[in-house]
Order: sequence, then C-alpha cells, then structure tokens
Amino acid sequence: ATEVRLASRPHGMPTETNFDVVDTEVPSPGPGEVLVRNTWLSVDPYMRGRMSSAKSYAEPYEVGKVMHGGAIGEVVESHFDGLAPGDVVLHGLGWRTHAVVAGKHAAKVDPDAAPVTAYLGVLGLTGLTAYAGLFDVAGLKEGDTVFVSAAAGAVGSVAGQLAKRNGAARVIGSAGSAEKVRWLTEELGFDAAFNYRDAPVTEQLAAAAPDGVDVYFDNVGGDHLEAAIDSLNLHGRIAVCGMISAYNATQPPAAPRNLAQIIAKRFTMRGFLVGDHYHLRSRFLAEVAPMVADGRLRYSETVVAGIRNAPRAFLDLLEGANTGKMLVRLQE
Ligand code: NDP
Repeated sequence: ATEVRLASRPHGMPTETNFDVVDTEVPSPGPGEVLVRNTWLSVDPYMRGRMSSAKSYAEPYEVGKVMHGGAIGEVVESHFDGLAPGDVVLHGLGWRTHAVVAGKHAAKVDPDAAPVTAYLGVLGLTGLTAYAGLFDVAGLKEGDTVFVSAAAGAVGSVAGQLAKRNGAARVIGSAGSAEKVRWLTEELGFDAAFNYRDAPVTEQLAAAAPDGVDVYFDNVGGDHLEAAIDSLNLHGRIAVCGMISAYNATQPPAAPRNLAQIIAKRFTMRGFLVGDHYHLRSRFLAEVAPMVADGRLRYSETVVAGIRNAPRAFLDLLEGANTGKMLVRLQE
C-alpha cells in the first residue's frame, strides 16, 4: 500500500517537498469496518487551507499524517453488514491506495447509474456546491445576468450551465486560458467568456456585461470580486463560494477596494459552505443526474495517473492545469 502524507506546512505556493509518498502495510479491517482498494482520488482547492495550521471550517491536516479527502474505491474485505466485496464506495479518507473505513462512513454508489468519477465531481460535492450556491445562496431568478469566475473548473462549469438551463438571460465566465474560454462558449453554452490574463478583469467584465450583472458566483475573490462589484446591478447578489486567488497569498489581498458600493447598490454578499446544504442533495441528484445522462449538462475531468503524482496534480490544480474536476486514477 502507498499513502501521501503532509511532510511540512507550506508558506505561499506549496511545493512537492511539502508531501511525503510512503509505502505501508495493507491495513486490516476490524469489526464494523471494510477494507477499500481506492480507484480514484479527489484533488480539491480546500486542501490548501487544511495544509496550514490556521483554524478554519475544516480541521488542519497533521504533519506526518495522510492527506484526507474524497476517494472512491472497491470493497475488498468487509466486516460490516450492508457492504460486500465488489461494492463501490465513496469515503473521505483521502490519498492512499488502501483504506480501512468504518462501514457507516462508506457510502455505496451505483456504478451503473453514472461513471463512478461523477460521484466525486458533477454529481458529487463540486456539483452540489454549484447547485447550492446558485439556487439557495444567490437565489437565481429568471432573466438574471450571471457571472461565474474559475468558470472552467469543477464548480464553475456546473454553476454556469445550471444558470443557463434555469432561466438566466446571460451567463458570463472567466478562466485562465484561451482553450478554456473556447470550451465555455462553444461547448458549455456560456454567452460570453474571457481570459482574465489578457486584460484587467474590470474592463473585460464590463465589456461582456453591458447591462450589468445580477448574480456573481465567486470562486476567485480579489480582482474578480472587485470587477463584479463594479458591474453589479441594483440589488445584485454575490454568492461567495471560494477565493482561490488568496489561498497562497502571504499578505491579505487589498481588493475589493470598492466595497462601499454595497450601500448605493444595496447588494447582498453571502458566503456559504456546501456542508450546510446537504439537505438539497436528493433534489440536486433528481434534477441534475438526468441532465448529465442525456448530455444537457456537460462536464470534463482532468486525470492524473498514479498515487505518486497526487501532489503534482494538486499543485497543477492551483495553477489551473485542470479543465473541470481534477482527479487521480489509481487503477487501469
Ligand atoms: P477548480 O476545478 O475550479 O480548480 C481551481 C481553478 O482555480 C483552477 O483550475 C484555476 O483555473 C483557478 N485559479 C487558480 N488560481 C487562480 C487565480 N489566482 N485567479 C483566478 N483563477 C484561479 O476547483 P473547484 O471547482 O473544486 O473549486 C472552485 C472554488 O470553489 C474554489 O475557490 C474552492 O475553494 C471553492 N469551493 C467551495 C466550496 C464551499 O463549500 N464553499 C466547496 C467546493 C469548492 P484558471 O485556469 O481559470 O485560472
């Protein structure tokens, strides 16, 4: 068995030296537990926060311990009623080839209903995050103009498409490459998209949203948030999902410098955590799974092979190498 541990806490952008890849014995399950051979690992931006010691909503990782996170695998030995060898399960024990999981914390998934990787992305936490942010937090309404940042990522690509399929008049996305911009407009149905590296976000957003923005789905913070505030219409709503532009910052960012507009525009800005919205899960699956199945909602995955490359996949995610969900594949 092999696992990836946090070797040291990063200052600024992490490097591979912050991780240790360690060979271990295959663990044995006890009563009520199952042994899972992992097939897919999830790679997520929030893991950057957990690598720091700062107190946040998720416990910091311990130095010398495994990087916990979403994973999918196959049960190979079971001491838990209700799970049998061959079952495919979702669990949270993260970056390791083999995991001993308490049976009650292993959620069985149906590999015939959707490709199993969907349960880590479009039909999993990132999809639910997009759904909760758009409907519960931003209160999407018919006719809204919606701006989504990190729009070619796992959450953003779903948020933009759901907005478009649920009455938004105009959906605008930003992303970090020309190829991602093309994907958004030509394949996902965004009305407009721009590469934030080409010119200041404020200028590009103003050009893409001549009639202003009603809903901003924020994955980035910083200059993107400032630009959205400038373009926001009266009574606009900002759902703050993430602020990835600040995750590796060693100084707190100055933006948004224009926050005072909140008064005249009477806009609402609300942060949220997907964990507070699990009650939406069955409604989300009932609505979104059929859209995925018949292709009305498209998704992309960027796959890196092998557990030894999990740290690299994570660093690549922070630098935007992924289109859609970033995953590590452990088995052919
Ligand atoms: P993504 O698939 O979107 O991957 C991260 C993307 O962020 C990269 O592909 C990169 O794309 C972009 N990015 C990185 N640095 C910057 C930067 N400085 N400025 C602009 N864009 C940048 O990840 P997820 O979909 O998993 O997560 C998206 C956001 O949602 C994150 O902020 C995450 O923390 C948050 N999140 C929040 C949850 C909640 O409960 N609130 C739950 C899940 C995620 P590009 O090439 O476009 O730069």
